[in-house]
Amino acid sequence: MKINIIGAGPVGCYLAYLLADKFEVEVYEEHSEIGKPVQCAGIITNSINSVIQIPPEVILNKIKNFEISYKDQKLKIKLRNPDIIIDRTKFDTFFYNKAKERGVKFSLGKRINDLAELKGIIIGADGPNSIVSKAIGNKTTSWMGIQTKIKLPDSQIKASLDYGKFGWTIPEGNGTCRVGIMDEKENAKQTFKKFTKGKQNSLQAGLIPKYNPKNKLCKNNLYIVGDAAGMVKATTGGGIIPGLKAAKVLANCLIKRKKYKRKLRKVRKELKTQLIARKVLDHLNDEEIKKLFKLFRKEKNKKILEEIDRDNLKKIAIKLLLRNPTLITYAPKIYK
Ligand SMILES: Cc1cc2nc3c(=O)[nH]c(=O)nc-3n(C[C@H](O)[C@H](O)[C@H](O)COP(=O)(O)OP(=O)(O)OC[C@H]3O[C@@H](n4cnc5c(N)ncnc54)[C@H](O)[C@@H]3O)c2cc1C
Repeated sequence: MKINIIGAGPVGCYLAYLLADKFEVEVYEEHSEIGKPVQCAGIITNSINSVIQIPPEVILNKIKNFEISYKDQKLKIKLRNPDIIIDRTKFDTFFYNKAKERGVKFSLGKRINDLAELKGIIIGADGPNSIVSKAIGNKTTSWMGIQTKIKLPDSQIKASLDYGKFGWTIPEGNGTCRVGIMDEKENAKQTFKKFTKGKQNSLQAGLIPKYNPKNKLCKNNLYIVGDAAGMVKATTGGGIIPGLKAAKVLANCLIKRKKYKRKLRKVRKELKTQLIARKVLDHLNDEEIKKLFKLFRKEKNKKILEEIDRDNLKKIAIKLLLRNPTLITYAPKIYK
């Protein structure tokens, strides 16, 4: 049985690598170079190690100091396991090389416009505008992410909640920071201008899909994974780790003939928790945010945020709720 994967991003390449021993696999990528153009802030949590060991040459920086701010409110945490700042082109190339070494065939510079061109199983790892997701019948909406690089001496990661969905400052470790925002498409340019105070060069912009738990993940011979399936954390726009985790599940399901949706339960629950957190964040007023910062500054709560990384938000939420039952008063925000 032939498996056709559309999209040679990290998720498509990783999936191809996992399937290569059992199937004939071909990957189609519209760009002629892997990992370009870069449209990513390139920050991942330590959870990457639960998926795969990445080589040191892909890593630019590791940072434990993390500051979350909203207007005059600040919360400084020291992560037990540092966040990892990657060179996204090298990261994607790492997965591409692994797949190639296992005998995967790549057709670079080939855009698939019509799925009828392909025979066998078709997997959409083709990003936020996935043609495979559309063929399955899904409708996906997206935020916009825009970033630039600015010379800044910062050595801590900053998340600013008062700019769009949030703004980020991520030190590359060479006196340069990746500075950007995620917001609704219609506001993104304006929010970015405000956040960077007009300083901008070498702009990178891209869509960040909104996870929709109602979307289908497969139909007949069609499957979707990664950004194509909206598998992005709605709090931060991070999609690398959920996408890679889902690729692992999908590979196992295809090899062992198991049901993808059912086996993906853990990833789906995490993405749902991220979505709920997004809804709550979107409906908080200044006073409520101030109260939350006060609560998170308490040592017992800060410790939870320091010890469990944000790819495990469900675990964080359960621990926080158990220690702070009053947090349940924020629940009605989910339904607004
Ligand atoms: C500004 C910005 C910043 C981000 N920062 C982070 C971050 O710091 N951390 C993080 O975890 N995530 C981040 N993300 C999200 C992250 O980039 C994605 O979640 C991740 O790239 C998903 O990988 P993927 O392989 O599923 O899709 P993609 O990386 O989008 O790869 C899809 C590939 O499919 C190809 N393709 C699409 N359609 C076709 C077609 N019809 N035929 C052939 N090829 C096709 C595309 O060219 C592309 O190469 C950010 C996103 C943006 C926009």
